[in-house]
Amino acid sequence: MSATRTIAVLGATGSIGGSALDVIARHPQRFAVTTLSAHRDVDALLALCRQFRPQRAVIADPALLDPLAAGLRAAGLATEPLAGRNALLAAATAGDTDTVIAAIVGAAGMASTLAAAQAGKRLLLANKESVVLAGALLMDTAKRNGAQIIPIDSEHNAIFQCLPTVGDTGDRLKGVRRLVLTASGGPFRGRQRAELESITPDQACAHPNWVMGRKISVDSATLMNKGLEVIEAHWLFGLPAERIEVLVHPQSIVHSLVDYADGSMLAQLGQPDMRTALAQALAWPERIESGVGALDLARHGRLDFEPPDRLTFPCLDLAYHALQLGGTAGAIVNAANEVAVSAFLQGQLRFLGIPELIARTLDRVAVTAGDSIDALLAADRAARDAATHHLTLMEST
Ligand code: NAD
Ligand code: MG
Repeated sequence: MSATRTIAVLGATGSIGGSALDVIARHPQRFAVTTLSAHRDVDALLALCRQFRPQRAVIADPALLDPLAAGLRAAGLATEPLAGRNALLAAATAGDTDTVIAAIVGAAGMASTLAAAQAGKRLLLANKESVVLAGALLMDTAKRNGAQIIPIDSEHNAIFQCLPTVGDTGDRLKGVRRLVLTASGGPFRGRQRAELESITPDQACAHPNWVMGRKISVDSATLMNKGLEVIEAHWLFGLPAERIEVLVHPQSIVHSLVDYADGSMLAQLGQPDMRTALAQALAWPERIESGVGALDLARHGRLDFEPPDRLTFPCLDLAYHALQLGGTAGAIVNAANEVAVSAFLQGQLRFLGIPELIARTLDRVAVTAGDSIDALLAADRAARDAATHHLTLMEST
């Protein structure tokens, strides 16, 4: 077995964070947790600190440093309490850490993801929004600093597993015709637009196959999740939009496929449980137990496939459009989507208003080259401002 891996789990209290820690806890000889972070949930962070005894615990909201420190003291832990953005960056680059699990949701994860890449860490990347926002910069930073990125998103992890593991990115793509990302179709697969008029947040978050955080659950219901994943695949694997396809597969057993020039198609199959991807990435290139049982294909009996319904779910094409536009278009679509989903979850925007708000924002915010972090952050801010403005107009009509 390889030496102990030292791991920072950023976004430890979330759905991915919990799955990662479940796998880590099964292999105490192999993995040690150096950092755990959370946004605002001090109690959940403290509970994880008691279990994993990390070197440091980071709460993103600086106002919560005192209760975190008090809780760690009361528990008699030597864990150092830290707070705020800079603490998150320090954790992502700490010398005692070789692996960073990027499991924060949204653009809020971008800075720590980039910092881990810059520090040459092994980066287990779940935070897809940071790839959509800053893909070119992230891939370039990782390459220059020798950071290995292993995708956690189940589709991209599947593709990672179906590509040859040797050679640089260019070589790995030799003979690849296209990537096929599978999509469950979400809770509203098969419905017509008119049937989506009065969807509530709880209906949108009730995913048929996966249990996930609320933001990605809504993204799955609108198919924006698949759109973000197309952009993510473009950056991670270096193929143009026309060679990345989406295939609806309601059972979520085939996690994605690679189509080769000789007519071979390789797929990765497994139960819809993120611990498989996390275990694969944590142990790579070895294989370890993840807690996920064997797939019983005879019990499933059949696997279905169909094309996505691009008219009912226009978010998919909005993402393709952003990828074609290039530059800051990904940042704009991502930011508009974050504003739209948050408004929908708070009851301030209809379900069908989500693609509308994204399209309006993409129409109105100028796309620029986006070749620096400042340009990307400016685009993110401009899109959030524009989307918030359109939101007030839409809701008053
Ligand atoms: P979640 O909402 O369950 O957890 C998010 C985590 O990020 C929490 O620990 C939260 O405290 C932290 N966080 C939130 N806002 C923050 C902020 N502003 N600053 C610092 N920390 C913050 O989300 P999730 O479902 O675990 O998803 C995490 C990421 O992984 C997302 O980018 C998502 O798209 C991606 N992903 C998730 C799944 C899944 O099955 N849940 C699958 C594939 C990809
Ligand atoms: Mg996915």
